[in-house]
Amino acid sequence: MSTDLSIKAFQEAQELIPGGVNSPVRAFKSVGGTPIFITEGEGAYLTDVDGNKYVDFVQSWGPLIFGHRDESIEKAVIEAVKHGLSFGAPTIAETELAKLVVEFFDSIDKVRFVSSGTEAVMSAIRLARGFTSRDNIVKFTGCYHGHSDALLVEAGSGAATFGNPSSPGVPADFTRHTLLAEYNNIESARKCFADSDDIACVIIEPIAGNMGLVPADKEFLHELRKLCDENGTLLIFDEVMSGFRGTINGAESITGVKPDIITLGKVIGGGMPVGAFGARAEIMAILSPEGPVYQAGTLSGNPVAMAAGFAALTKLKQNARVMAVLQTRATRLVEGMKAEALACGITMQIDVRGSMFGFFFNEKPVKNFADACNSDADLFAKFHSGMLSEGFYFACSLYETGFISTATTDEMIEDTIKASAKIFKAITNG
Ligand SMILES: *Cc1c(COP(=O)(O)O)cnc(C)c1O
Repeated sequence: MSTDLSIKAFQEAQELIPGGVNSPVRAFKSVGGTPIFITEGEGAYLTDVDGNKYVDFVQSWGPLIFGHRDESIEKAVIEAVKHGLSFGAPTIAETELAKLVVEFFDSIDKVRFVSSGTEAVMSAIRLARGFTSRDNIVKFTGCYHGHSDALLVEAGSGAATFGNPSSPGVPADFTRHTLLAEYNNIESARKCFADSDDIACVIIEPIAGNMGLVPADKEFLHELRKLCDENGTLLIFDEVMSGFRGTINGAESITGVKPDIITLGKVIGGGMPVGAFGARAEIMAILSPEGPVYQAGTLSGNPVAMAAGFAALTKLKQNARVMAVLQTRATRLVEGMKAEALACGITMQIDVRGSMFGFFFNEKPVKNFADACNSDADLFAKFHSGMLSEGFYFACSLYETGFISTATTDEMIEDTIKASAKIFKAITNG
């Protein structure tokens, strides 16, 4: 398999774009090698500039639950384009998508659309701070909430402490209000509340997908809800990834834990740039122009993006059973690979939520970021490049979640498992 044209394209891109990519994870840095330059997607497949075809387990990092070029989404977008790309004035399409979002989530009465998950989360946090008249927030180590200043705070030790920025360019003052706790560890969250009586909100990925796939324990989420209630603090579920991916009706529907604010992205735009945040009416009422908390966007609620999102969510609503089918298929995939790994003496930890799947080369179960970091990165890199050369496109970092789409067939899953067997054998034979 030749990737000469990708290598050439990457060299040229690096002359003009920092690192050759417009989002760092695409650069293959943690697995080595050159990123594949894509020309086309079709269903479950990607084609690169050299003409190689891959089964795609990245799906644009989540959005494409119906695969590439889904007929109804494509049609909706083309139809919308014909009426104009953007108006900066209200359209009925926004109300229609809002109606669908409210139907999907029990805890959302009203919703505001933005253009990315990052925007959705930073706006939701402003809203929580405005609503509670407090400044501090609690986030969990290993959870990713977009690249805004206050949320780019890394793991310290596991102990709850005031966070340090994880990127140059973020003033320490800006992260002074971000407290860190350990995922699935209620004591560390309690410590944050012991340290501060000024906590506006706790933000969490209820099904964490940015340290690999690490779902929160149900009991932990219940305790977190209780802790928030006792302290007059809002609970934000960041479901930018898990929304419409892990479950159809949000993490609330499988955990019984009610969030105050939910942030959405990825699938909600059907492949176009859309983010959203929603809450009960009382909270949303303080958002501008109804209330004083400012938030805005020139391209927010863009009609083409709304059309794509509406088509995607309509299809999900009409095929609510699809998530169970995807879950069965994703489970078969990781269980199959795990068995092949074990046959070669390699231990894998696996998990699945809906169409999201995760695996770690790790001897022990993974419950938090520290556990995830104990995985075998070298083995992952070998697995990744081996699978790529066999025509299977997995996320190029062990800290990412895998996705299947409705276009991923049982046959593709079996082929993937077979290929993994070959790769595990090659790895263990040195
Ligand atoms: C992807 C993601 C974001 C950021 O969304 P962007 O659209 O990349 O800005 C925020 N939170 C979670 C949980 C995500 O997975």
